[in-house]
Amino acid sequence: KDDNIICAGCGVAIQTENKEELGYTPSSALERDVIICQRCFRLKHYNEIQDVSLTDDDFLKILNEIGSKDALIVMIVDIFDFNGSWLPGIPRFAGKNPVLLVGNKVDLLPKSVNESRLINWMKETSKELGLKPADVMLMSAEKGHRVMEVAAQIDQSREGKDVYIIGCTNVGKSTFVNRLIKEFGGDEEQLITTSQFPGTTLNLIDIPLDDGRTMYDTPGIINHHQMAHYINKNELRTITPKKEIKPKVYQLNEEQTLFFGGLARFDFVSGERQSFVCYVSNEINIHRTKLSRADELYQTQLGDILQPPGDKTKEGFPRLVPHEFMIKEDKVDVVFSGLGWITVSKKGTKLVAHAPEGVGVSVRKSLI
Ligand code: GDP
Repeated sequence: KDDNIICAGCGVAIQTENKEELGYTPSSALERDVIICQRCFRLKHYNEIQDVSLTDDDFLKILNEIGSKDALIVMIVDIFDFNGSWLPGIPRFAGKNPVLLVGNKVDLLPKSVNESRLINWMKETSKELGLKPADVMLMSAEKGHRVMEVAAQIDQSREGKDVYIIGCTNVGKSTFVNRLIKEFGGDEEQLITTSQFPGTTLNLIDIPLDDGRTMYDTPGIINHHQMAHYINKNELRTITPKKEIKPKVYQLNEEQTLFFGGLARFDFVSGERQSFVCYVSNEINIHRTKLSRADELYQTQLGDILQPPGDKTKEGFPRLVPHEFMIKEDKVDVVFSGLGWITVSKKGTKLVAHAPEGVGVSVRKSLI
């Protein structure tokens, strides 16, 4: 990082090493008279926001700063990975500011999902996580589903105040903001302004609103529990669902195991014979085996029958760590952050969910 050069568009320190991080500029662009970061470059020339990630520290500073403003906060989460894309500090940082919670990527869920039930589920879950959102909405930024309704709600809820859009990386924040930019068009020159966040080196990208107010797009924060950080880009493409998930149902007896490629393993240790419904990308191979054979199978077949990870990437792939669960109610989801979930139908079921070291596993009331 070369702290001497700052972006003429947004004021962040320019760096040439890491594309995904704030201030990135290709070295060739350093020759230009006016140097701007790639994020501002895209916005200026293509009217497109590119999401970049911040360090945890910088992100905390931004959240702190937002807390001291009088504004509407729009928090976007990935409905396919609700907990994995949640921002843990949000209840504290939002303070008295209203939060509009938007669940994105609703197009991935099976059509049978009842949207109002899902919204209720989001409300309840937020409450458990300490946040009472002013409103909860669902959308698909990519397909354009409900995007304009969300925009209208933002405009109504902000009551003349500024708006801050926050979310961790990969929730679809830039897809959403880019849609808004296209819909409401601001003129290009106007789009990039420098609004300094005191106490940080950061300037955020502003999108002017028609009453002279501003919508701020904040860079995202990496959520370290997500699977995305432990596999390569190709593998990420396989595990990220691109269209409506077709749930797969397995009738299992105790002492049976399911492998999700080589990425995760689900042991049904004991309990009544029952069905397990798997909600993962249609492209992930699910492999059923006996629990007693599972260890050996993983050792000999990782990167082969059990992939991703592939033969080349399995070396760097983290080891699987077991998480034991005793299920105490009917119909719960066992969630592998970023990969998907398995709905367990009966209470009294004993399970072990194996996930790559670092990837979060949790149990929640069934979403569907
Ligand atoms: P950001 O890091 O939060 O800015 O996220 P992006 O906008 O870059 O999106 C991350 C990934 O999610 C990309 O591969 C998008 O194509 C995808 N994505 C964004 N919105 C949606 C959506 O509504 N549905 C689906 N299925 N994918 C989406």
